[in-house]
Amino acid sequence: MTDQKTPRLSPDADPLDPGFLRDLVTGDLRLTPEQSLKIYREMPIQELGRWADARCRSIHGDQRRTYVIDRNINYTNVCTAKCTFCAFRRDGTEDDAYTLEVEEILQKIKELVDIGGTQILMQGGMNPELPLTWYEELLSTIREAFPQVHVHAFSPPEMIEFVDFFDPPGATLEDKLRWVLTRLKAAGLHTVPGGGGEIFADAVRRKIGLGKCDAEAWLTTMRVAHELGMNTSATMMFGHIEGVADRIHHMDLVRSWQDRSIRDFSADGGGRTMAFISWPFQRENTPLGRCHEWGQHKDDDLDQPFPGDVVARLDGSGEKSSHPEFGRRIRLVGSSDYLRTQALSRLHLDNIHSIGASWVTMGPHVGQVALAWGANDMGSIMMEENVVSAAGTTYCLSEPLLCHLIRGAGFTPAQRDNSYQVLKSHEGSDAPDLQVEDWSTQRSQKLHVENDSCSEGSEGVEVTISIDSSS
Ligand code: SF4
Repeated sequence: MTDQKTPRLSPDADPLDPGFLRDLVTGDLRLTPEQSLKIYREMPIQELGRWADARCRSIHGDQRRTYVIDRNINYTNVCTAKCTFCAFRRDGTEDDAYTLEVEEILQKIKELVDIGGTQILMQGGMNPELPLTWYEELLSTIREAFPQVHVHAFSPPEMIEFVDFFDPPGATLEDKLRWVLTRLKAAGLHTVPGGGGEIFADAVRRKIGLGKCDAEAWLTTMRVAHELGMNTSATMMFGHIEGVADRIHHMDLVRSWQDRSIRDFSADGGGRTMAFISWPFQRENTPLGRCHEWGQHKDDDLDQPFPGDVVARLDGSGEKSSHPEFGRRIRLVGSSDYLRTQALSRLHLDNIHSIGASWVTMGPHVGQVALAWGANDMGSIMMEENVVSAAGTTYCLSEPLLCHLIRGAGFTPAQRDNSYQVLKSHEGSDAPDLQVEDWSTQRSQKLHVENDSCSEGSEGVEVTISIDSSS
């Protein structure tokens, strides 16, 4: 992957002007937050999709769209934080609080390797009972048993809690993170996932992420990872109490810190943020999900703006005091706002290689359509997922079906690795989806698969995936 030219800002230009947009597609210009907000609010969605698709094609070409075979392993659900959008965490005393044994984790990785998987995404709650040596021994055991498996693990909130739990040496947070990350890297950690991004703006974060690190700490963690030569990803969970300006501020922080990492570290083999994926909040079983949707409370006046939009500022400086109902009303996101937000992320994040489609939350069909709204990657087949599914979403896909969706969107499906290098491009008749003769056997029921089905039968067409017209 080569660095592209550095795009220029043209803050006085009209972002709806086709000439401006053509320069955006070629990477000659970049958007200001104000211009992104105007695009979000005023550009018709199909047009926004076309420009995001054009930008995506200028980076990734017209032929292939990718996926990875990995496995989410949530090693513990015990967590010191109390995020209001989370249905997964436990205090540690409940009957269903758990920490996986190393042998259980190894068994899960074996099952992944058996179906051709290349990577694990390992994240947990923030469990104060686990010492640093537990993580180091886990990583080195995985490396010894499965040297071919890429370990993408421990998101910034976990890293920040490691600093808290392990009291590493160092005068600054950066020093302490460097010490922790260096130890984990030496033990076998390859890259750092961007979990826990949520929304960076303080007013939102303080409401929904109780006990979780702030944006500065999140971004500093990734900067240290980049300094140490490790790639990372970035995420955004939206469609709750935030305003649209908060989403753009979030993207803008990811972009500006990526600029800094490339400037400061790339000449010395530094890492960078490889991918951005955003998804809508899933409300089931969560405290935040019990808030009224805006307009559903008898006192709400829909002629007035959503509280999150009143509070949000493009520079992240919004104050909760700007609206009395801020944090008490949510605005859930449907397919249209999802696609609009994802397309904007492709245009605003001009220094991020990959934009992922979130079919896990939006469903496979929207995920497929998202490939025409700026996404180049369908993420992973979902052998197992515990965090989002605890909040009510249990979509999972086999490799043939994922390939089928990509091909149906007009592209050749290709399996990639964590660096977005293509491992297998499925042009030939031996492609996983082209082995399936009768898709009707997989279309008889709703696409809502219980976790057990997902984790037991992800190989080939035997996984119990089905689609109905409502999904
Ligand atoms: S989202 Fe993560 S950090 Fe927050 S409570 Fe749940 S497990 Fe803990």
